[in-house]
Amino acid sequence: MDKTSHRHRKLVVAATFAALILLLAIHVFWLFKAARLEEQIFNQRVAIALKEARDEVAVRLVQCIQMNEYLCGKQCAHDVAHNKRAELDSIIHSRLEINNIHLKYWFEINHAHLSSATDKNNCYYQSLSGLLPTDDIHIKVQFPDRSRYVMAQLGGLFVASITFIFLVAISFVVMLRLYHREKLLMQQTIDFINNMVHEFQTPLANIRLATSMIKKRIAGDAKNEEYIQIVQKEHHKLQGHIDKILNVAALGQNNNATEPVDLLQLTRDAADNFRPRITALNGTIGFHYQGTNFILKGNYELLETAWNSLIDNAIKYSPDNVEILLCLTEENGKQTFIVEDQGIGMSTNETKRIFDQYYRVSSGDIHNVKGFGLGLYHTWQIISAYEGKIKVESTLGKGTRFIIEFNQK
Ligand code: ADP
Repeated sequence: MDKTSHRHRKLVVAATFAALILLLAIHVFWLFKAARLEEQIFNQRVAIALKEARDEVAVRLVQCIQMNEYLCGKQCAHDVAHNKRAELDSIIHSRLEINNIHLKYWFEINHAHLSSATDKNNCYYQSLSGLLPTDDIHIKVQFPDRSRYVMAQLGGLFVASITFIFLVAISFVVMLRLYHREKLLMQQTIDFINNMVHEFQTPLANIRLATSMIKKRIAGDAKNEEYIQIVQKEHHKLQGHIDKILNVAALGQNNNATEPVDLLQLTRDAADNFRPRITALNGTIGFHYQGTNFILKGNYELLETAWNSLIDNAIKYSPDNVEILLCLTEENGKQTFIVEDQGIGMSTNETKRIFDQYYRVSSGDIHNVKGFGLGLYHTWQIISAYEGKIKVESTLGKGTRFIIEFNQK
């Protein structure tokens, strides 16, 4: 049982790490995709701006012959060329601004056949064909900070998402370490309780011996006999609790120790052991069985603890009418043990949680039986250790039925 949960834990840790790495990869993938999209949008805006600039150049060309000469690369006075370049610069600048591009740029008038392949990747061209006598003239624009601008658009998002993923990973590791520390602490507490409980065994044995000696000596003294009976009863209770704890500890340490256990004998013995207590409460305990093969590979003491726990609960939670029925059946290798009572019962919500450790149905107006909410949890542990199943059917105010099943096939 422990090995399986250890393997499950390892699987969960591995799966969480794999999921985190995958999440990181998906994030990076989406960020690159977003960067490419951002670049495309930028390219489109530049193309629109340059197209608008071309239209404006067309208007200027009609009004100004010098612009024509400048664009065709004809020799003209230095200040004329300078002025026309400034005019073209202002046209391009205003169109870029209108299209929301506020980046540094430079431009030149170029012949298409002169531009290199690398130029084509980084530059934007606007052909002026149709406006000038020569056809292959175009405006070439370059933005030196284009990549930085695109990355800046996504930078905040990128840093934030990577930071969050790392935060999740770190908190996961911290949680894991805390969990291991808690587990260690729990193990130490369990070891301490087990050792302490072992220490109770000797004084208890001495008390039992002493009380039986006293009982012999005071034979006939009714008052003292009554006191001794109280001591013996309380001793018996204490011994029962200690045995329970030790059995559970044994389950945790050595759940593989198995021997053939006769469930028929076990159930008969359990019914016989509980009968005096039930009779004293004016109740009844019935037992019937059907089938032949009641041998189960398990541990007698542990299975006895599970059986006793269910019968004990049936008595405890039947305050008015202790009517208990035990039923054992075997069919095609499937062994079923049922404990049925007509006690206080439980609601469906409660039945879902009663096998949880420390869970008790809130006593308030329902019952005032003392307990720790451990009996059914331990019973579930024992049954699970032998690959059995335990379930409960209950109706509030009518009674409860616990069903244990082992499939030997
Ligand atoms: P404890 O009896 O010590 O509280 P258990 O684990 O044995 O712990 O039981 C958990 C809870 O399940 C109990 O508090 C009780 O309310 C409910 N319960 C168990 N058995 C019965 C039953 N036969 N009838 C009604 N309620 C039950």
